[in-house]
Amino acid sequence: MKYNELRRKSKCVKIKDREIGANSDILIQSMTNTDTQDYMATIAQIKALEHAGCDIVRITVPNLESVKTISKIKEADIKIPVVADIHFDYKIALECVRAGIDKIRINPGNIGDEWKIKEVVSACKSQQIPIRIGVNGGSLEKHILQKYGAPTAEALAESAFYHISLLEKFGFDNIVVSVKSSDVRNMILANRIIAKQCDYPIHLGVTEAGDDYSGLIKSSAGIGSLLCDGIGDTIRVSLTADPVKEIYAGKELLSSLGFFNKGSIRVVSCPTCGRTKIDLISLSNSFKDAISDIDTKGKEIKVALMGCVVNGPGEARECDIGIAGGKGEAVLFKKGEIIRKIKEEEIISTLLMEINQLINEI
Ligand code: SF4
Repeated sequence: MKYNELRRKSKCVKIKDREIGANSDILIQSMTNTDTQDYMATIAQIKALEHAGCDIVRITVPNLESVKTISKIKEADIKIPVVADIHFDYKIALECVRAGIDKIRINPGNIGDEWKIKEVVSACKSQQIPIRIGVNGGSLEKHILQKYGAPTAEALAESAFYHISLLEKFGFDNIVVSVKSSDVRNMILANRIIAKQCDYPIHLGVTEAGDDYSGLIKSSAGIGSLLCDGIGDTIRVSLTADPVKEIYAGKELLSSLGFFNKGSIRVVSCPTCGRTKIDLISLSNSFKDAISDIDTKGKEIKVALMGCVVNGPGEARECDIGIAGGKGEAVLFKKGEIIRKIKEEEIISTLLMEINQLINEI
């Protein structure tokens, strides 16, 4: 990860066999949207997320019945850490810890009496289970909302520090913190305050961001600008879409900023113009489907799909391989140098063959 050294130095929080913060990779998270009690569906979705490259998965645990799913998940062959999302009920938190959950997300200020917070803290401490405090602009504490009059960045940050203080009071510092808002600017500013004033790892996300169009744009603006500032240790790109899409989006976002080091195929494509004589839009969609499951064995491979031979090879000179379209045909180029002509219908198979060779090159 070439920009890792530019990141804010945070504490290291261990979750199962992964680490959040310090020098570890920025982890990509998502959340299941199945009924947690339907453990077959939940496990199937976790497996799909894991297969897509998810590092940490969160499930909602709204009642004690849902806790049973945790042991079923433990029996299934799932490698990634599982986080329980809990609101208010300390008993559910205790049961999740007993069931072997890897991390819980709960806001201690919502638990109620201090003795209940203390019990949750002792249970998490005894099993070395971290807690994520997750402040959300839509559910700020009344006293903070009254003080600021609106869920401003300062109000969001104050809420996070309020919850942190309730855990620290009982000597607990195995904490990850997140401050989310559907207002991108507030989310950015609040996280900057948090990043300055504590050294806990930070989970980034824009909440209620929208579908896989507006959600992607809002998340890229919010998460992306903080990552560029060196802030953020784990991310979730929230989308009103299949959670697997959140993982692909997270990878693309990290990759575009030089923070993704597991290897990927990055596709560069031109916007098309009057010179384009090939159906580049359909080609790009089919190509993305064709490469979605390829394991690059840690390599970063850049592929260019360009509309014309006049500018294509030159503009995509930094790519490992690429094609530039003509009428019913294309030229294959490597690092900007034209290699040979190929027929339009051979483009995808030729690129896949070239990618395979690059992956297996020593
Ligand atoms: S590469 Fe060619 S087709 Fe694509 S935008 Fe540039 S000039 Fe147009």
